[in-house]
This record gives sequence, C-alpha cells and structure tokens, in this order.
Amino acid sequence: MDAAERAAALHAYADETASCTRCALATGRTQVVFGSGNADADLMLVGEAPGFHEDQQGVPFVGQAGQLLDRLLAGIGLERGDVYVCNTLKCRPAGNRDPLEEEIAACEPHLFRQIELVQPRVVATLGNFATRLLSGRPLGITRVHGSEQEVTLGSSRVLLYPLYHPAAALYTPSMLHVLEQDFGRLPELLGRAVAIEPVEAEPRPDDAGGDDTAVREVVQLGLF
Ligand code: URA
Repeated sequence: MDAAERAAALHAYADETASCTRCALATGRTQVVFGSGNADADLMLVGEAPGFHEDQQGVPFVGQAGQLLDRLLAGIGLERGDVYVCNTLKCRPAGNRDPLEEEIAACEPHLFRQIELVQPRVVATLGNFATRLLSGRPLGITRVHGSEQEVTLGSSRVLLYPLYHPAAALYTPSMLHVLEQDFGRLPELLGRAVAIEPVEAEPRPDDAGGDDTAVREVVQLGLF
C-alpha cells in the first residue's frame, strides 16, 4: 500500500469505528477518538484512553498530557504530523478511571488494525495499559520503560518501546526526566528499526470477537 492508500484505508476504518458498540463505553462517550497523525508514520504512540478534552474534540492527546507530548516530540525534531497517535481505548471511561479488562479486550481489534494499516517501525507505548497489552506481559512500566523489544504485532514486525505516560510525568519531575531521556533514544531506534524486514501477512481473526493474542508473537525478548 502506498501512503495515499494507507491514509484512505485508515480513514475508512475510522468511519467504521465511529459507531462502535463493542463495549459499554459507547453509551457514555461524546465520540470515538480513533487516532490522528500521519498514516504513513514510522513512529506510532499508543496511550491509555481519551480524557475529557479528547472526548470533546475527537483527537487524542489534546489536553495537558498532549502538550507535554508535543514538547517531547519537538525535542527530537518531530511534530504530530510526523507520527501517528492513538490510544488503547478509543472511548473515554467515565471520570477518567482506569480501563477495564473487558474494555481493553473489546477495543484491541481496533488498535491492531491501526498497526496493520500504518505499519509503523517503532510503537512507543505510553504507560502501563498499552505496554501490557502490546507486550503481552504483565510487567509494570517502572520496570520496563526504556527497554525496546522486537515483536510481531498482527502482520507487522516492530520495535516496541515502553515509555512513562506523559500524564504521570506532568507532576513528577524525576519521572519527567526519565521520560525525556527515554524519548531521546527514539531517533536511534527509528534508525535501527528501518532494518527490520516486514513479515508475511498472517491470517487474522476477523474483528467480530477474534482473539488477537493468537497473532502476537514475541520474536525476541528484551530486558524483561
Ligand atoms: N491520556 C491518554 O492516554 N490519551 C489521551 O488521548 C489523552 C490523555
């Protein structure tokens, strides 16, 4: 797929997802916050779930955490238009509570489809929920942040790179410092990840309830 076809496919999938009722969050949302940015990006950032402002505007990371994310990206010479940004959950949990297991499971096919369409080289997971989901490991972000791992997600071979969530770093200077340092390694990882060969497309369970964990294969263990 060339860049224009990728963007069109992603757009079509976003339209499909706009009426999603796979979990109970559908009843409380203003709108689905699908994702935004460059459909042809080498770097995909995956957060937790939309908050108040994201739910209102339909765009991920537009609040304070998003402003920090923009500053971190600027620090490595990137802007939103260079990367693709989305969340583990596409709909806002009431009161910004933590995502529930069943909500993550229900929403997972959307994230895997986004990865399949964008075909990023590096997927940076922001915080515990995205990291646990995409690494398939129950370890906390404090232990795994900054440790890249080569994994196959759907039909994409990527470098998975766990980072602290910007919202957590906003009010904790020591965490912010670590996040900045970890972020600073992204250019090197993007350069390295260019050498990863794409894998053959694997048959995927369809989106109506398939178990994506079946196609998530850890091909090389990192430092976990
Ligand atoms: N936090 C997230 O994880 N995602 C957003 O979109 C905003 C805040």
